[in-house]
Amino acid sequence: MPIIVADALEKTYAEGAAPVPALRGVSLSLEKGDFVALTGPSGCGKSTLLHLCGAMDRPSKGRLTIEGQDIAALDDDALTRLRRDRIGFVFQFFNLLPTLTIADNIALPCLLAGMPARQAEAKAQALATRVGIGHRLGHYPQQVSGGEAQRAAIARALVHSPALLIADEPTGNLDSANGATVLALLAELNRDLGVTMLLATHAVDVAAAAHRTIRLRDGRLEEAA
Ligand code: ADP
Repeated sequence: MPIIVADALEKTYAEGAAPVPALRGVSLSLEKGDFVALTGPSGCGKSTLLHLCGAMDRPSKGRLTIEGQDIAALDDDALTRLRRDRIGFVFQFFNLLPTLTIADNIALPCLLAGMPARQAEAKAQALATRVGIGHRLGHYPQQVSGGEAQRAAIARALVHSPALLIADEPTGNLDSANGATVLALLAELNRDLGVTMLLATHAVDVAAAAHRTIRLRDGRLEEAA
């Protein structure tokens, strides 16, 4: 069963004076284990598509299924649960909570899902070690480097074993060496854990590391290689 199936997705933002069509009929499918780069110029709809695939928003038109569930059939609570339990997010600016240690940041998704604290801590520790920041567990986000912070964010995104990892410009705030390390880590985790990854990026090397590149232009798919 595909992880994501989008059929003629449209998203129009209607809050402002004039409606903004951000997606104009996007169809795609992500299989389990896929590693897909989403590229295209600024404003082409990448973040909008990530938000929809991440169950953070609903399409204006078209059909979207996540692990076979049509999101139109889910109420807001069910959509929130699907997002919390089945999807992990990585952002350009890490989005770690500054008042929590690296260990607690990583454990948070498990705690929110109701896992006992000790078990969540053990999972966080194992994954932190796996991504190479086992020696930073007691530090706070402002005490670690950008590369370490992004590795912590990747561990946090994967700690509850999601089906899909969504990353919005994950190397965009890193220097090229740290960006390359984070990219290699994502590729390794994709391969070893079988977690499907959808990455929006401007970086050519990210796109090159992916199995497949999807290009958006003006809210439409340009090509799927
Ligand atoms: P990208 O991530 O490729 O830069 P976005 O998905 O952020 O593109 O934006 C696509 C289009 O939708 C842009 O024209 C943008 O200005 C518009 N847009 C994005 N989010 C909103 C919003 N919440 N309200 C109104 N317009 C939006």
